[in-house]
Amino acid sequence: MSKSPFTLVPLPLLQLVGADEEVFAPERAVYTNRDLDLSGIKVVGFDMDYTLAIYKKAPMEQLQYDLTVERLITNLGYPEAIRELKYDPSTVIRGLVVDKRTGNTLKMDTHGRVARAWHGQRRLSVDEIKALYAHARLRLGSESLASADTLFSMPEVALYANLVAFFDARIEAGDSAAPLSIPADAPTDRLLGRINTWKLFDDVREGIDAIHRDGSLKSVIIADLPTYFDRDDELPLTLHKLRSAGKRLFLLTNSFWMYTDAVMSFLLDGRLKEYGTWRSYFDIVICGGKKPAFFTERRPFLEVLAQKGIEQTVGEVDAERFDRARVYQGGNISDFERMASAKGEEILYVGDHIFGDIVRSRRDSRWRTCLVVEELEHEVGGTLANSERIEAIDDLDGRRHALDDDIALHRALLDRLEVAVSDKAAGVVDDAQRIELEDAAKRLRKEIDVAKRSLRSLDREAQEHQDELDKSFNLSWGRLFKASNELSRFGAQVELYACCYTSKVSNFRHYSPMHYFRAPRESMSHDASLTSSSRKKAARSRTAAG
Ligand code: IMP
Ligand code: MG
Repeated sequence: MSKSPFTLVPLPLLQLVGADEEVFAPERAVYTNRDLDLSGIKVVGFDMDYTLAIYKKAPMEQLQYDLTVERLITNLGYPEAIRELKYDPSTVIRGLVVDKRTGNTLKMDTHGRVARAWHGQRRLSVDEIKALYAHARLRLGSESLASADTLFSMPEVALYANLVAFFDARIEAGDSAAPLSIPADAPTDRLLGRINTWKLFDDVREGIDAIHRDGSLKSVIIADLPTYFDRDDELPLTLHKLRSAGKRLFLLTNSFWMYTDAVMSFLLDGRLKEYGTWRSYFDIVICGGKKPAFFTERRPFLEVLAQKGIEQTVGEVDAERFDRARVYQGGNISDFERMASAKGEEILYVGDHIFGDIVRSRRDSRWRTCLVVEELEHEVGGTLANSERIEAIDDLDGRRHALDDDIALHRALLDRLEVAVSDKAAGVVDDAQRIELEDAAKRLRKEIDVAKRSLRSLDREAQEHQDELDKSFNLSWGRLFKASNELSRFGAQVELYACCYTSKVSNFRHYSPMHYFRAPRESMSHDASLTSSSRKKAARSRTAAG
């Protein structure tokens, strides 16, 4: 590595200018998949829920869970006993997929394979997963699958798993009148278990959807904002820093005006003397944005009556430019770019929803994207804390692969020896050579057996390390971005669609607003095998195999 041309600035001076913090703590870094030059970004947009507004996990998820249980009992006649089912946030992670036909919850890897599965509170064995999923491709667009892409979905998946276990147990106990036993006329190809897991999911989904839409969830939150939100002290400074560098900021949220105003006021009003209210941070405010339709359809912008506690629109907008003093609802990307006088790669959008905020905006526009993954702090922290174990797994993997290759090479050699001593080669080798060949083949067979035993023991050792590692991240599901040593489906989506990702918006405060975020250099499999060290290694093993 070449020597840095910079000398250290003394600590008291760093303290004087507020640059003494541990700036690039890995948990709070911005990670880059595709180069992003902030100096080329004119306009920065933010989603609200779980992006600017960070919910407190336990109370928020418990509230959604409880309200949905209540609805299932009151509106759909579910048994009172489901009130006893406890919400355990550790049983869910982002990116899981619900299979409505079986009632299973799945973690998938980057290749669309099922890496782990649970049915209610029971983890499926490798053989069960193979029997159910090894031979058919799971299509994520299919109506039998539902994916949990945002943190709003965590209680939904956990409640579903609880109910699957609950109704399974009732059927097991001989309660054929359990409301979710399969109706006689149900299409049998749609369901694989003994209860109607498809309807069960639809009921839960509908319940969650209703509490978000009918005000029951939001009225509780608005009445007690400090219970439900973490106020990030660095957020106002981060927004200010971007503005001071000449960037225009906008808010584009699916939440409607009344809720947006209450939450944003709580987060930003009166926090910096230059900014009286939250509105003064933003040049454009769009509520009820209806993402992902915002990116794909041509709905008009409406103007909102921007008064506290009132939810009303005042008509369609017909203007060339956005007006700072107004608040908008709905709209679409093409009118947005025209009215904001910015387009494509000049716009950076920061959101937490891999599909609604990131995939759509990347597929349907050239907006640059940053995904907020608050779990990243836990993931990075866990990776650092387990670095020795991870190195041990990497080392074991290296040894397993080398031994596996070695076994394959020697097996091929053994084949040739066996052909040489067989009848087919009669006349090609003389008797003395045949005896030598037989001895060599016998020795090689034994050595291959020994090597295979070593390989099995390395496999076991690696699996034990992997299990321990996974447990230290999440007992039920392991790591968020990984599925064993592949990327998880979620990890792969993040890599494919988000230009960069970070745990919270205020992490940008530690970077210059002109920062050039550089992605690691891409390399393909053949690049790795063409480095001089891997060529030497390959040559060595060829020589060894004779
Ligand atoms: P964001 O600011 O674009 O992230 O908007 C999130 C909004 O979507 C919030 O107002 C949530 O209450 C709402 N939301 C989340 N999940 C659901 C749902 O399942 N049905 C309806 N609205 C939802
Ligand atoms: Mg959001």
